[in-house]
Amino acid sequence: MGSTKSLLPIPQKKLAGNHALTEKCAVFGIFGPNNEAARVTYYGLWALQHRGQESSGISSSDGKKIYRHASNGLVANVYREEDLDNLPGNVAIGHNRYATSGDARENYNQPIINLDKTFAFAHNGNLPDTSSLVKFLQKNKVKTAKLNDSHMMAVAIDIFIAKGQPLEQAIKSAYPLFQGVFSAVAMDTTQLIAFRDHCGIRPLSIGKMGDSYVVSSETCAFETIGAKYIRDVLPGEMVIIDKNGIKSEQIVPGTQKLDIFEFVYFARPDSILLGQRVNSVRQRFGAEIAKEHKVSADVVIPVPDSSIPAAIGYAEASGIPFDMGLVKNRYIHRTFIQPTAEMRKRDVKMKLNPVNESIAGKRVVLVDDSIVRGTTMRQVVHMIREAGAKELHVVISCPPVKYPDFYGINTPEQDDLISSRLSVEEICKYIGADSLHFLSYAGMIRATKLPQNVFSMSCFNGIYPIDIGNAAKKVKNITLKAKVSPKPRKTHKSRNEPVKALA
Ligand code: 5GP
Ligand code: MG
Repeated sequence: MGSTKSLLPIPQKKLAGNHALTEKCAVFGIFGPNNEAARVTYYGLWALQHRGQESSGISSSDGKKIYRHASNGLVANVYREEDLDNLPGNVAIGHNRYATSGDARENYNQPIINLDKTFAFAHNGNLPDTSSLVKFLQKNKVKTAKLNDSHMMAVAIDIFIAKGQPLEQAIKSAYPLFQGVFSAVAMDTTQLIAFRDHCGIRPLSIGKMGDSYVVSSETCAFETIGAKYIRDVLPGEMVIIDKNGIKSEQIVPGTQKLDIFEFVYFARPDSILLGQRVNSVRQRFGAEIAKEHKVSADVVIPVPDSSIPAAIGYAEASGIPFDMGLVKNRYIHRTFIQPTAEMRKRDVKMKLNPVNESIAGKRVVLVDDSIVRGTTMRQVVHMIREAGAKELHVVISCPPVKYPDFYGINTPEQDDLISSRLSVEEICKYIGADSLHFLSYAGMIRATKLPQNVFSMSCFNGIYPIDIGNAAKKVKNITLKAKVSPKPRKTHKSRNEPVKALA
């Protein structure tokens, strides 16, 4: 029996402010015959560290109960040898969390487990509209005020478990209540389940390692642990892995709408999304913008690390030499989420340092992957000027970010997005560059070598394929017509049907 009253850990404080409820995160899961599931998950989470640096957690099971270890900090600091020893068994799920508001809310760490220690859950994404979920929970006498969206999802599933439904059925029962974005992993003591929202906004892939199956937010983790990529969990699909192998069920029909920002910024360059290597797509972003905006210059410099592939692509296509004229301190994290502008400013200096010889007396093309608030670029431009650049042309390898995200990225309120308030010329003046060029929308899509309808590009075009509920009222120039609605299926495939396209 599951307990519907409360899941562990219970948040002690009410959520602060009006920030998005969850955030960009990483999930990982494994089921297999060997008893090192938690250790493999630990290595998987190392490879997914870039998706969340606030906290990390693993739960595992030996068939009897579920064990859990989670704490604030980087994967490197969260687990000691004995923590992994205390996570026995052949099934495990893991999570790296990326918090939005900067405060340490340890109790929101994942995986979330129920009081009976028979069910664990981890989520990447965000539910912008929790109204039906809240209604359902309140009807079931659950106090929702202190729960974030991931906790609410877990409690909803646990309510159906408490009614006697097996995990797989409990997820199906709760699924229609989840209005938003989720690439999720769940487990009980004998199985691993992975499922995705009907648009597949956040990535989730399946791999195989010996006789074990693994699921991961990104394919880069497969290579780290020695697994082979098989395919993605499809939009609207649930994949069930247990001792009998792997099965799938399409819970609702899916329409692929991957968040294109995964290609722009999030994903690791060595990951593959929708069949395309992220590194190659980013190089083509750079090549496209070099075609769109010819600049006479002496050197192309990336703002490391995320814009390096785009800068390489730009340098190659323009014939202007590439140089690492800015060095990043690898040990500084979280610039983006520091709560005040003052703190963010100082952090940029902590993070980046110019190499004067690469810059002094030169006409510089400075490449970054995106401008969100404009804080980073204003600081970097100032830094490059101080290092003696003769001219400074800024190139951004995506279009202007004009709309806030509700699907799991920590972007600020719309008014804080500099491109929602200012024109390109005004931003150029604000950051202090000689010229500023954004990649065009068409160029960005061309570079992916994929059709535009497989993407959600809400932060660029204000088209939100998944309903964002009341939040839509606050967004200026929003396009509401392009919503993709999931149509519930009348008949489900049977439990024992083998998975199509799985090796
Ligand atoms: P800005 O300073 O304009 O607010 O942020 C732009 C910088 O933040 C760029 O250098 C980009 O690489 C990075 N960035 C863009 N999106 C995100 C995000 O979601 N999280 C973090 N940590 N950085 C981001
Ligand atoms: Mg950056």
